[in-house]
Amino acid sequence: MVWRSVISHHVAGCGACGGAEPVILNPKRYTARMAAPVKGKLDEEARVALRDWFTAQAADLPWRRERRPYRIWLAEVMLMQTRVATVLRYYERFLEAFPDPAALAAAPLAEVLKRWEGLGYYTRARNLHRAARIISEQRAGQLPQSYEEWLALPGIGPYSAAAIASIASGEARAAVDGNVRRVLARLLDEPGDIRRGQTQRSLAQTAQDWLDADAPGRHNEALMELGQRICRPRAPLCPSCPLRRHCRALARGTVALRPVRSPRSAPREEWQLGALIVDAQGRTLLRQRDADERLGHLWAFPGGVMTHNGTTAIKKPPAGARSELARLLQEQLGCAAQVGAFFTQVPLRISGVRGWLVIYRAKLPADYQSTAENIRWLSAAERARASFGRAERVVLSAWEEAQRPKRPRRKKTKLAGRSASRRTK
Ligand code: SF4
Repeated sequence: MVWRSVISHHVAGCGACGGAEPVILNPKRYTARMAAPVKGKLDEEARVALRDWFTAQAADLPWRRERRPYRIWLAEVMLMQTRVATVLRYYERFLEAFPDPAALAAAPLAEVLKRWEGLGYYTRARNLHRAARIISEQRAGQLPQSYEEWLALPGIGPYSAAAIASIASGEARAAVDGNVRRVLARLLDEPGDIRRGQTQRSLAQTAQDWLDADAPGRHNEALMELGQRICRPRAPLCPSCPLRRHCRALARGTVALRPVRSPRSAPREEWQLGALIVDAQGRTLLRQRDADERLGHLWAFPGGVMTHNGTTAIKKPPAGARSELARLLQEQLGCAAQVGAFFTQVPLRISGVRGWLVIYRAKLPADYQSTAENIRWLSAAERARASFGRAERVVLSAWEEAQRPKRPRRKKTKLAGRSASRRTK
């Protein structure tokens, strides 16, 4: 096949190429014919193959055991931009704390955020809580019944509304997320850029046309799971794929090229500066972020983002970081803080941002009193109850660990050494 000379085919053991060695992609020879869309729709036979595979191979997941809409809703929200393995660690614990929408609505937001801590993308937790309150106050506790009703709740987009409505109420709506788009782009050998609206609309239409109207929820779940487990972004497991006979990218040797994706804009580089300020009782001064800030409502160290032109690829904080932190503290706390030694720095992992959280020790004037409601001294017990972003939690754990009294190391006596060596003989 001539295409093998121009396409990097990474699919080990692929049925189409007989397990040939991967070859180097030569974009200059990627012809218009290869880029041309394949006409025709996915058919009934492919749908049945997908259904049979899911019936035999579906993963045993807690939200599939009891098909209650609240459980399905919670699982869909947790699974947004998060892997199944991670969600499994939080799902049951969250349900234990908030077993139904009424319990979730009645809980304070701080408690919901605490249960969410570590799962990331905290806007999801805030929206979940807001939605539960809307259900409790405006819908007399009744959960939505249709796609349109789910879509009207905060934090629920077209994908989640379609997934929940199809799984919980059997509504014939195709749920199209990144996984499903990738599978469809490969099945159809779609040459369009998957980040473009036109390509996304076309794939969404294909998904809707191909939906199993008798069991839309199962069909949606099957397609999503196929994307997660088999048609993975890299190294898809084509030999194990139930749709390999229907896959046009596999037949044409373009799997490694699909989906076509234009490059993302580079993440913003940020140096975040924070002050570790501790009083005589071991309490730390912390600031609760405003609702409209990034990571809103979560607690942070006093400080802020440093304006700079340099890169964060160099791990060393930029020159002037200490004086910049002093300026930020003066602005935030209304007093002249003494910024001292470097304590630690932790990489930032926030969507769209790359950089570091850099922490310095600092001292405040003896008569300092916080006048702002969101800046407070938190004791160890209060810190344990409060919610933090990942980076702040890492810093606090490191500091708390450093405070623990060290156990004196036992001196090795000659006798102990001899008996130890005897034991090992
Ligand atoms: S749909 Fe199946 S055969 Fe096609 S690329 Fe994905 S895993 Fe391979």
